[in-house]
Amino acid sequence: MNKIEVSNLTKIFGSHPQQALKRLKNGEQKEQILDETGMTVGVSESSFSVKPGEFFVIMGLSGSGKSTLIRLVNRLIEPTDGEVYIDGDDITKMDKDKLIETRRKKLGMVFQKFGLFPHRSVLANVGYGLEIQGVNKQEREEKARRSIEDVGLKGYESSSPDELSGGMQQRVGLARALANDTDILLMDEAFSALDPLIRKDMQDELLKLQYKLGKTVLFITHDLDEALKLGDRIAIMKDGRIVQVGTSEDILENPANEYVFNFVKDVDRSKVLEASNVMRKPEVLTTFKDGPRMAIRKMEEVGASSIFVVDRENNFKGLLTIDDAIKAYNEHISMEEFLITDDIHSASPDTLLNDLIGVAAQTKYPITVIEDGKLAGIISRVSILSGLVLGKEEDEVTTQS
Ligand code: ADP
Ligand code: MG
Repeated sequence: MNKIEVSNLTKIFGSHPQQALKRLKNGEQKEQILDETGMTVGVSESSFSVKPGEFFVIMGLSGSGKSTLIRLVNRLIEPTDGEVYIDGDDITKMDKDKLIETRRKKLGMVFQKFGLFPHRSVLANVGYGLEIQGVNKQEREEKARRSIEDVGLKGYESSSPDELSGGMQQRVGLARALANDTDILLMDEAFSALDPLIRKDMQDELLKLQYKLGKTVLFITHDLDEALKLGDRIAIMKDGRIVQVGTSEDILENPANEYVFNFVKDVDRSKVLEASNVMRKPEVLTTFKDGPRMAIRKMEEVGASSIFVVDRENNFKGLLTIDDAIKAYNEHISMEEFLITDDIHSASPDTLLNDLIGVAAQTKYPITVIEDGKLAGIISRVSILSGLVLGKEEDEVTTQS
């Protein structure tokens, strides 16, 4: 089941939203509706869904409707039309008690302006959400301390927010959202006010935290680089509408229209795309336990001439070719003897494609993406090398609008 599902959602600001909604449904544009009725279409007939554990980014220029959309997701504002499902429950239909409970239990929120209480310590700020839920002091301080540590602020528990830099204050904001232990984090331009270097640190840490804690993140930004870096998938908004949803790679390689094309055309793919953006799961894997006969069968099934070998915990062991597998089988030799390890090049998920070009040109095997010793995915040499060619022929890419 989707963690968040937004279905045909519309928000119109003004005195008679239903009238404007009719116009919208008749195909009138935001600008025309504003001109003729004075009403503003904030979000227009938008749909998307976010899977559990997914990092979903909404990207668009200022005024495109991002904040309106995220506020509809936790129903800080009422929709004009459409539904928002959180874990399958329609938040737009909930009564007040259920809504409050859903927000507290499921939806953590981090804003651009940190919204910290100046006269409270870091610890008390982080524990605030738990305090208003009536959690006792000991438990909330325990949880608050843990999330303060998670965001790297251990030692600052009794500081007051104004003693901290902007980046650290935003860490407090993040810790406050984490302390509530919600599955979902909603982040509206949370890093947009930070200096570039601090911002990069925060991005890296958020990715690590999300991975470690398994959060589902709905993250808003107006910054394309930030979106490409963070998002498992990205929704691009324009004038209240979602114009494309896709992975970084989808959006760079197949922009849905001229607007998106113009947005992404100056991006150097190799400097933005990371291994995790282009890796895929290996079609087949085998373990020592399976033995050479099984390995051969698996290769035959998919027509592969080699297979990656992992142990039961998915730790990467090496590559076995079909010839060696047959030899191991016929001569009753352990597969381990034939494993190729030295010639296999590894990258981590955040290695830039740019740094893999040289490797791809030299190696004969796919590049493995290893995270904590485990095989996260593989990248074919061709995908890197052909990606480069595409990048160079950018001018010839045609777009339709
Ligand atoms: P973003 O977050 O992408 O910058 P917003 O969601 O804040 O965009 O705004 C989307 C559109 O809705 C804009 O045209 C904005 O002026 C309008 N808008 C947002 N909030 C209100 C409001 N409370 N009343 C009237 N118009 C609003
Ligand atoms: Mg905004």
